Amino acid sequence: MSVPGELNPPVRVLMGPGPSEAHPRILRAMATPLLGHLDPCFLDIMDEVREMLRQVFRTGNELTIPISATGSAGMEAALANLLEPGDEALVCVNGVFGNRMCDIVGRCGAGLVRVDAPWGSPIDPEDVREALTGCRPKLVAIVHAETSTGVLQPLEEISRLAHQAGALFLVDTVTSLGGADVRVDEWEIDAVYSGTQKCLGAPPGLSPVSFSSRALEAMDSRKSKVQSWYLDLSLVRKYWGEQRVYHHTAPISSIYALRESLRIVLEEGLEARFARHKANSELLRAGLEKLGFEYLVAPEYRLPMLNTVIIPAGLEDAPTRRKLLERYNIEIGAGLGELAGKVWRIGLMGYSSSENNVNLLLSAIGKLMNG
Ligand SMILES: *Cc1c(COP(=O)(O)O)cnc(C)c1O
Repeated sequence: MSVPGELNPPVRVLMGPGPSEAHPRILRAMATPLLGHLDPCFLDIMDEVREMLRQVFRTGNELTIPISATGSAGMEAALANLLEPGDEALVCVNGVFGNRMCDIVGRCGAGLVRVDAPWGSPIDPEDVREALTGCRPKLVAIVHAETSTGVLQPLEEISRLAHQAGALFLVDTVTSLGGADVRVDEWEIDAVYSGTQKCLGAPPGLSPVSFSSRALEAMDSRKSKVQSWYLDLSLVRKYWGEQRVYHHTAPISSIYALRESLRIVLEEGLEARFARHKANSELLRAGLEKLGFEYLVAPEYRLPMLNTVIIPAGLEDAPTRRKLLERYNIEIGAGLGELAGKVWRIGLMGYSSSENNVNLLLSAIGKLMNG
């Protein structure tokens, strides 16, 4: 059998729901020499990553680390460490990722109470209030930026309701972190997870997480072991904490990449970065509206980093996306679940959120619409 040729992927413009494009500095960081996972130099790098992650999450939480796998592993780690068989969890669902949390809650052996909203709308705090009169959940879980629909979820009121009911507040910030404001301490979020390949602009592979002292108490008073050995934070913590006990081999190059991406985020400044995401999203909207596109989500709940537009009559879904990819090297996202075939999801995340990318996509779509 012959050996495949040297890897030479096309250079795509990544404007889908993630991964986004990585800054060249991040790719260079990944190509630097490996260290051992207990090398003193690497331990320093881990500390730098933890400290920068705290700044980006706006938290003082001691347990703030990247989980060694993608965003879904952060979701699974948060739920599996906080829930035990017999517990109850309230999950807010208005898209694919709320549904994924429900699936994991069931696998943890916990009871599930769902609060649903239509896809494309945020969760109504009144519905959470009402549901909490009939149950006593250990946690209330919600998605901040629903990447399947493009909805930004206001969090503060639901956080208050969760705590009044004696529950922990768990939030998915996979798509929001690094592109929109996430205030873990101020909004009293007890468990939060994210991903590297969306607005942090690094390759996929790590899931930054952070847990409040309240969440740590809940973990420390478990009666049963976490069913996942790999994601058991009582073990993982010993590697990231003072003890530096080997648990699994840290994905060294991915942590280099995260370190560089966090440096880029903090050099730009959080507020400036959020403003850039917003400005490019406005530019895209102005151009798409001229071409006759309409948005799925009401203006006040639209995500700047994930723009969900209804596919206009006369434009085919898959064939148009294929032409964007093959002729113009541009990737955009298809609709997911009940929105498949009806919408496109245009990502403007991290390094991909640029005026040049917006102009490129608008002119490409314009050309395809004119035959
Ligand atoms: C992408 C995403 C995830 C899952 O992350 P993976 O890195 O694909 O595992 C979870 N939640 C939201 C909101 C996402 O956008």
